[in-house]
Amino acid sequence: MPELPEAETIRKALEQILPGRRIENVEVFSPAMREPLTPLLSAGLPGRTFTGIRRRGRYLLADLDDGRAALMHFGMSGVVRVEETGKYPRRKHEHLFLHLSGGLTYKFECTRRFSIFKICTPTGRERIPQELAHLGTEPLSDAFCGKMLFALSRDRKTPVKNFIMDNRIVTGIGNIYATETLYAARISPQRCAGTLTEKECARITGEAKTILQRAIEAGGSSISDFLHVDGTEGKFAQELSAYGKCGTPCPRCGEIFSTVKIGGRSSCFCPGCQK
Ligand SMILES: [Zn+2]
Repeated sequence: MPELPEAETIRKALEQILPGRRIENVEVFSPAMREPLTPLLSAGLPGRTFTGIRRRGRYLLADLDDGRAALMHFGMSGVVRVEETGKYPRRKHEHLFLHLSGGLTYKFECTRRFSIFKICTPTGRERIPQELAHLGTEPLSDAFCGKMLFALSRDRKTPVKNFIMDNRIVTGIGNIYATETLYAARISPQRCAGTLTEKECARITGEAKTILQRAIEAGGSSISDFLHVDGTEGKFAQELSAYGKCGTPCPRCGEIFSTVKIGGRSSCFCPGCQK
C-alpha cells in the first residue's frame, strides 16, 4: 500500500514532468474509482496547464493555472504512468488518461479502485482544499516534535501505534512506518499513548523522520525512467527491520518478534526491547 514515502516518490517524479504542461484531452474508461471519474469529462480541463505539484500526507495536489488542483490518492494499488501518447495500448486497469502537451499521456491505473483522482479547489494561505482540511501535522515538518506529540497524547488511552497512525494527529504514517518507527524508538505498540514521556515522544518523532526520509531516498532510486512513474515498488522493503519479521530473532536483543492484534491489524514487535 502506498504510504507517504511512495507518494513523495511519485511527487518528485511528476515534478519533472507536469509543471508547464497543458491538458489537451481527457479520457475516462471507468465511471469511478473511490470517487466518480466521469465529472472530469465536464470539468473544463482541456486548455488548463499544470503549474506545480505538492504533497500533503499521502495525497498529491497537482495545481492548475486556474487556481484549482487535481487531488490524487493512490489507495491500495494506485499506479501513475506518464508515457508517450499512443505508444502502448490501454492496460486493463487504467481508468483515466490525461493527454498532455509535448506528446505525453498521464495514465492512472488502479486494480482495486480505492484510489482518488478528482478536481478540487484549494483555499487559504496554505492552499489546501476542504477535502484535506482534517489532516494533522506533516511528519517531516519541524512542528512534528516530542513536545507536540507529548501534548496531544495526554490522557489518551489509545495504543501508541494507533495514535501515530491517526491522520488527525500526524498525517501519512501507515502500518509499515508505524511498526518500524516504534521498533526503532524501542516503544511497545500496545503502550497507551497517555503513558509516553516527553523523551519517548521525541524518540518517536525523531525515528519517524529518519525512517521516512530513508524510505523516500530508497523510493526515489526505484525510478529508472522518468517517464515511467511507479510508486508501488520502492527499494525500502529490503531495509525493513521489524515489519513482517514475526517469528524471526530481533537483531537488537535476540528475542523472537511476536504479533499482537491492535485495532484489528496484526502488529509485529519485539517483546524483549520494545517497552
Ligand atoms: Zn529486541
